[in-house]
This record gives sequence, C-alpha cells and structure tokens, in this order.
Amino acid sequence: MTESKKHEFPYRRVGVFGAARSGVGAMSLLRHHGIEVVLMDEKPAMEFRSLIRKLKRHNVTPYFGKFDEDVLQGCEALVVSPGIPLEHRLNQAAVNRHIPLLSEVELASYFAGSPICAITGTNGKTTTTTLVGQALTDAGKNAVVSGNIGRAFSDGVLASQDASRDTVLVTEVSSFQLETIEMFRPKVAAILNITRAHEDRYPDMRDYVDAKYRIFKNMEEDDHVVLNWDDPLCRKAAEETDAQVWWFSMRQQVKQGAYVKDGTIFLAEDGESTEVCKVAEVPLPGQHNVENTLAALVLSRRMGAPLESLLRTLRRFKGVEHRIEFVGRSKNNVAYYNDSKATNIDSLEKALLAFDRPVVLLAGGQARNASFDRLGQLVRDRVKRLVVLGESAPLIMKSWGPLVETVHAKTMEEAVKLASKEAQDGDIVLLSPACPSWDMFKDYEERGQVFKRCVRSILG
Ligand code: ADP
Repeated sequence: MTESKKHEFPYRRVGVFGAARSGVGAMSLLRHHGIEVVLMDEKPAMEFRSLIRKLKRHNVTPYFGKFDEDVLQGCEALVVSPGIPLEHRLNQAAVNRHIPLLSEVELASYFAGSPICAITGTNGKTTTTTLVGQALTDAGKNAVVSGNIGRAFSDGVLASQDASRDTVLVTEVSSFQLETIEMFRPKVAAILNITRAHEDRYPDMRDYVDAKYRIFKNMEEDDHVVLNWDDPLCRKAAEETDAQVWWFSMRQQVKQGAYVKDGTIFLAEDGESTEVCKVAEVPLPGQHNVENTLAALVLSRRMGAPLESLLRTLRRFKGVEHRIEFVGRSKNNVAYYNDSKATNIDSLEKALLAFDRPVVLLAGGQARNASFDRLGQLVRDRVKRLVVLGESAPLIMKSWGPLVETVHAKTMEEAVKLASKEAQDGDIVLLSPACPSWDMFKDYEERGQVFKRCVRSILG
C-alpha cells in the first residue's frame, strides 16, 4: 500500500461511534488528514472528562449519552467500534441511510504508508505481536506495534505517517476487527490458531472462522501468509489464499517455515533447513510459547530480519506482562508467577502444562457459566494446594475441592499469604485465575498488579 492511498480516502465527513481507544485513534487520524469528524458514545459525558481537551484541540464536537440517530446527518461513512455489535441501532440506522460502515482497522489502512505485518488467532496474538515488534526493532527497523494491543492501529498509522526509516506496521487484529475490512492488505499475515471462542458474538463457529480468514482477503501472490500446520482450521486456510504459504509446526517437518524436531527449532527457507536454536533456549514457559516463537520467527524473517539478530531477540525475550510472568523467587526457592491474563479455563490449562514442578495455584474470579470439571485430571496431577478467591470460588471448590486440598481467601493479599505458607522448596506459586477479574478488580491488569505487589511485600 502506498502513501498515495491517503488521497483516495473518499469521505470528507465521517462519524465515529465509540470514544474508547480505537475510536479516539480513528478521530485523531482523520483530523490529521483534515477530515471532519462526528464523535459519538452512549456513555455519559462525565466518563470522558480527560478526552474533552483533546477533542477541543482537534476541533471535534462530541455527542455523549443520549443522542438521536440524526447525528448521522451529513456523515458519509461511520467508523464502528469493534466492541459494539453491528446490530446496534445506530449501526443499523447508518445501514438504512446507505452510510457505509468502516472498522477502525479498515479506516487506518487507507492511510497506511508502510508494509503491514498482521497477526490474528484465538490465542497468542499479543505475545507473538510483541515478539515480532521486538525482533524487527532489534534488526534495525522502525517497528510500530499497534492494533488490538494497547495502541489503536490508527495511532500506529498516525505515528508512522512521516516516518522516513524502514517502517513496519506490526499489527494485532481480532476477528471483530476483521469482520468489516475491505481494503486492509497485510504484506505478511499469520493465523496462529483457531479454536472455539466468543460464542456470544459467533454462535456459528463458521462465522468465526470466516472472520479470521478475512485477514488474507486482499493478499496477493507476492504477499506471505504464515499458518499453524498443527491446527486443522489453519491448515484449511491455505486453500483459500492466493498468498505464498509458510507453515509453523511443533510436530511436522515443513517445507517452508519453522518447525521443531528432536528438541531443536529449524527454519526452512529456499529448500534448505537451518538449525536456529534448542527449544530449551526459548525463555518463555510452555509449549504454547514455543508455537508463538515459531510463528514470530517466520513472520520476522518474511519482514527481513536477519537470523543472527532474531536469535538474540528470541533468547532475550521476557514475554508480556501478566502472561505467566515471573515475579520473583523466595529464599527457600519458591518461584512466583503472575498469569492474570488467564481469564478462561484454556489459559489455565496452558499455564499448568508449562510447569513440571508442584504448583500452589491461586484461581477464581468472576463467575461465568464455564465448567471447571474438564481440568480435573490436570489439577490433580499438577496442583499440590489450591487457594480460591472471588465470585467463582464455590464453583471451583465444588469441581476441584475433592481432588486437592483447598483453602478460601477473601482478598488477594490473604491468598498470597496462604499460598506462600503452603509452598516449599522448588514449588511454583501461580496466579492463573481461569476467570475474568471484574468481580474484584477493574481489569486483569489491575489484578496482576495487586498480586505482584503482595508477592513483593512477602519476598521483601
Ligand atoms: P491473545 O492476545 O490472543 O489473548 P496472549 O499472547 O495475550 O494472547 O496470551 C493470552 C493467553 O493465551 C496466555 O496466557 C496463554 O494462556 C494463552 N496462549 C498464548 N499463546 C497461545 C498459543 N499459541 N496457543 C494456545 N494458547 C495460547
């Protein structure tokens, strides 16, 4: 995509529905290009106090709280927030008025002047995106990391707008964001895995898979798509793309891509396999992180990172906060890990599989309908003591209480104290709640911060 594309953006007045991170990013990018913006959000104005000055600076008058559909008057397109369903009355009013709906990612693609390296999948997006960003930075490129990852894609595009150096837009994209893309065209893209998720938004699994496949909708023969050989739905995706296919696999030697054989990571390019490093050299815990590393390896190579610098990055990469994050070690050799991002049972499973030492597990949070029974065997095998907390504590106790000695804590502080009493030489204390955090915390980040603070106060 070339810089000239920005002149092709066809709309002069655009509605932006949703004033959270992506909406505000879209607004800034549009204003940077002199396009008139109508910003709307159904939350009351008092929730946007910190935004008001920015809006004034950009000359944008917002509509907050209750507003009429007539605010769409004169809008030539509507940028929809990934968090708001397309069935929402305002989105539907736009459709009825023949106003095209744009996702924020789609909007930003019009203005993207640098190649895009896009990453999607059910799990592992943030870890892989962060690793690719680091690898490309270490390789001397101007890697701008954005998307579904703390910084909106529009902000990434805006930051790269006048970049003179070798810039790459390293972009995490969710299925929600992909639903409405038309122009978005990555140079290199990966689908890491596709498993059942977001059932509320996608009652039919086929729709979820289709949304993921849209990532390569516009990719052509000279683009590259990186797919997980070990995942049947990813393997099938190869049949539906014109781009060159690269694989990564934990089980199978692939012709093009990265794979593991006898505990060693190999890279297969131009008909030749090169040994990269031992799996044991990957510092992140768990097989799932080896998968993320393989994907990042292929993506970074396709974006031009030399193997030597990539290897240095892989060996040094510390992972992302709140994802099986090492917090500290006590004098009696107990290691503490924060996996607060584990908001579902699958993530807890990954975390338990990542350790081969006895685990004192802190689990529980907001109660959902999910059943905990499925992990019974693994909990019995790996967890030596269980500390439950939060709304779901009784449910977890019911499932796992008969399998492992369990105590109930009222606060995170109490949970950490109880866990540290139970842990002995060589054990792991792991916060991996398997539940959302909203019963006790603002979000999983706050939960992880509180956990780390409690651990540090115990470790001194
Ligand atoms: P995402 O951005 O897709 O949510 P993250 O990198 O933030 O992914 O990881 C979130 C959680 O997903 C991790 O704590 C781990 O439990 C799980 N996970 C990460 N990578 C993978 C993977 N490749 N396959 C399966 N699960 C994974």
